[in-house]
Amino acid sequence: MTIALASLLAVAVLAFILFVRTEDLPEPEPVSPFAHLDERKAAIYENLRDAQFEYRVGKLSDDDYQQTKLGLQKELAVVMAEIDRIKGTLPAPGIEPRKAAVKVAAAAPKPNTCASCGAQFDRALKFCGECGKPMKVRA
Ligand SMILES: [Zn+2]
Repeated sequence: MTIALASLLAVAVLAFILFVRTEDLPEPEPVSPFAHLDERKAAIYENLRDAQFEYRVGKLSDDDYQQTKLGLQKELAVVMAEIDRIKGTLPAPGIEPRKAAVKVAAAAPKPNTCASCGAQFDRALKFCGECGKPMKVRA
């Protein structure tokens, strides 16, 4: 029982280390890029705290601390910019009501939709304003 638990723990630790290593790679995680960046952001904050602590206890020189801090802040800026970029394109997991509203709107039949390119217009048009093809005015 103890051996099983110990080996399970060892596997978990190993998996965690491998996971962190993979996450450190610069290429974006396709499954959940946002969670991946959040983890990186948290790791950078942790490193900043660590550096600050080591500086306070005298393990880091002033120069080393400033250099480490600057490097981490640069990395943090990159991660934050990436998060902002993703936030602008993907709905955040917290915004459920808006997502639901969009779904309802999409489910409702849209009049004045171009059959050729799918462009939607507020009013009935004889010709599509996007692709110029004649549009069937749907009731
Ligand atoms: Zn069109």
